[in-house]
Amino acid sequence: MAKVVFLGLGVMGYPMAGHIATAGHDVTVYNRTTAKAEKWVAEHGGSYAVTPADAVADADFVFSCVGDDPDVLAVALGENGGNGAIAAMKPGAIYVDNSTVSADVAGQLYVAGKARSIGVLDAPVSGGQAGAENGALTVMVGGDQVAFDAALPVMECYGARVVRMGDAGKGQQAKMCNQICIAGLVQGLSEALNFAIAADLDTDALLEAISGGAAQSWQMVNRGDTMVKNEFDFGFAVDWMRKDLRICLEEAARHDAPLPVTKIVAGYYDELSQMGHGRNDTSSLIRRLRSS
Ligand code: NAP
Repeated sequence: MAKVVFLGLGVMGYPMAGHIATAGHDVTVYNRTTAKAEKWVAEHGGSYAVTPADAVADADFVFSCVGDDPDVLAVALGENGGNGAIAAMKPGAIYVDNSTVSADVAGQLYVAGKARSIGVLDAPVSGGQAGAENGALTVMVGGDQVAFDAALPVMECYGARVVRMGDAGKGQQAKMCNQICIAGLVQGLSEALNFAIAADLDTDALLEAISGGAAQSWQMVNRGDTMVKNEFDFGFAVDWMRKDLRICLEEAARHDAPLPVTKIVAGYYDELSQMGHGRNDTSSLIRRLRSS
């Protein structure tokens, strides 16, 4: 069993770190707001530290799941006033970032790690809060094969499907593809369900009929019913999706790959955020159609 550190006990990190502890690893946690770290230790055992650097000196594996580019740079590299982990880790240890951030940040972490003989993996996840709580996330990984092989057993504590995509940054690029697919799909689902309601269709019967056919999707199966009921107080937040789509649009521009639908849907999410719905689930796109 390994010495593992988990940095960031949010909606995702809290249960992910819990699964690592349940598997028997010796886990130390860090959270910017210490109360959450205290709660986690009371629930799962292990210990907590008050800075990332304090947490990691002894660790074989360090995981992070925080927010946007500046947040990962703060916890991993100590930029923006943070107290970074990588400079304090022992050579030979491995850093795994589960946050959804730019491929550029993944590359910066990889280079910083390499200089200290620390393996770095970008390993963003998909599957949402429920996937994290059930230990059933999909993990898309970029970085060296050797580091991937070493970290795989620990990633499998919270991941049902863990796939190495290639070198550093490729995990983040794979996650971008995931989010590009979701953006257009949720808008299509919103339009269909809004139309069904306007046409006075039986939406239960509709979902039963089409969720087994060619239009089927995870979003339809897991969110169709709640979209009809106007329930959005859960799941993957609009403001996180805005971050993700910004990252997608920036990266796609670098590769000269147009994302016309994604760009439009990103604007719709901006509108929802301006309407005060930034913490609602991404399926709330249907709300725009109803209010217009
Ligand atoms: P969250 O609930 O908002 O939690 C964010 C965590 O990061 C908190 O522990 C927060 O600490 C910490 N944090 C943020 N900025 C920090 C900084 N500058 N320095 C130190 N700690 C910082 O977010 P989440 O939903 O768990 O998401 C985390 C990451 O996973 C994001 O990149 C997100 O895009 C990605 N993700 C989320 C989902 C989802 O369904 N939620 C799904 C897939 C991927 P405090 O407690 O002190 O605020």
